[in-house]
Amino acid sequence: MEYIKLEEKLPPKEYRSDIEPTWCPGCGDFGVVTALTKAFSEERFDPTAITMTSGIGCSSRLPLWMNAFGIHTAHGRALPAAVGVRLARPETPTIVTAGDGDIFSIGMEHFPHTARKNFDITLIVMDNRMYALTKNQTSPTSRHGYKGSLNPYGNIEDPFNVIKFAIASGATFVAQSYSGNPKHLAETIQAAVEHKGFSFVNVLSPCPTFNKIDTFKYYKGRLIDINKELGHDPSDMKAALELASHVLDADYPELEDAEPFKGKRPIGIFYKVEKETFEERIAKLKEKFAPKEGEEPDWDEILAKYRP
Ligand code: SF4
Repeated sequence: MEYIKLEEKLPPKEYRSDIEPTWCPGCGDFGVVTALTKAFSEERFDPTAITMTSGIGCSSRLPLWMNAFGIHTAHGRALPAAVGVRLARPETPTIVTAGDGDIFSIGMEHFPHTARKNFDITLIVMDNRMYALTKNQTSPTSRHGYKGSLNPYGNIEDPFNVIKFAIASGATFVAQSYSGNPKHLAETIQAAVEHKGFSFVNVLSPCPTFNKIDTFKYYKGRLIDINKELGHDPSDMKAALELASHVLDADYPELEDAEPFKGKRPIGIFYKVEKETFEERIAKLKEKFAPKEGEEPDWDEILAKYRP
């Protein structure tokens, strides 16, 4: 089903609410708000027909700053709420904004299943590599050795490779961007919302208040565009998985010079494929089995299918 769209573009500022953000000055997540408003404007989305869902965390406050419908759910539950929206109102663009702790830990069980079912949802994760709202605990994407408030001796775990996992789960659009590169971020988010199916954008988004390692200064000069600089073709799943295997290389000093990224962090579209969405399959089923106009459904026959 096509999204509800406006005849003419609205300026990006029309997609902002009048609520003042409470994020710390310099938070990377501001870049995501700007990129989203640009993407919505370019796509001519009707603000009264956009739904944004979020869970718990600094980044999950984002729908409050937007002129759109918002559902602020329990920790980790933004994806199933978005699935409900897709089933009830498939004509509304549905965006999930989340943090790395929220979506890759508490809400992790929802991620692969929403991806493999290919719901037409855009998931944007602001990945600051730790829990910020609860004051600096390690998250699933924290570096090995990261010193959070609950592990002063450093993280003994290795971080989770979310790009590789998303591709392996069946996501039909997988990308990474950086909140300090507004042009790349806006283009990537626009490509994600345009994509029909489950799109995932992992945004490297510094938290200047707590994370003193993965900072804007750290990322400066350490990014590599896999599509423009390495010529990666996102339709090639094998190549995408191979590249995705190296996204965390830069965490480890011994891999600093390793190919293909040579100590840099990759940004760009890793994987993109066209595939029927869950909503399209549901619509086909309804068309095939729904009673014709004026006919009464045969309830005995329908109920018989569900009886043991
Ligand atoms: Fe942003 Fe970090 Fe402040 Fe949270 S604590 S608003 S992530 S800078």
